[in-house]
Amino acid sequence: MKGYVSIPNSIYTKPCKYCGARPIIALTSHIDYVVRCPNSDTHYKTQPGLIDVEDWNIHNTLLYERDKISNRY
Ligand SMILES: [Zn+2]
Repeated sequence: MKGYVSIPNSIYTKPCKYCGARPIIALTSHIDYVVRCPNSDTHYKTQPGLIDVEDWNIHNTLLYERDKISNRY
């Protein structure tokens, strides 16, 4: 573990769908970041690279929320 950055409150993030935690940004190398759950490595984390909060949000969307979103379009 190299370090963590907390995500500013101004950025909308969904809570972890497994445990409800607010995600954090972890630095995996000097250039790669992942957005991940602070509680467990087995919960969803994004691919190393750019900070991808959107990807986190998509993967932590519960099924009923996804249905609501798809109905809008
Ligand atoms: Zn979690």
